Amino acid sequence: MTSEAGGDPHVRSQLGAYALGGLTPEEDRRIAGHLDGCPRCAADYAEVADGAALLALFDEEDLW
Ligand SMILES: [Zn+2]
Repeated sequence: MTSEAGGDPHVRSQLGAYALGGLTPEEDRRIAGHLDGCPRCAADYAEVADGAALLALFDEEDLW
């Protein structure tokens, strides 16, 4: 079993967890490496990180 289900070499589906620090150090490293060489995912990550930063401004109580 690989972590790249569907054969997609990109890391988009994991960027959210990556931005929130919810991945294992191994996955963390793999995604950091991918972002280094993939401007497309790096751009996506910039957006996701923005959203994560915004979310962090709210208390969970405000969201629910
Ligand atoms: Zn990519």
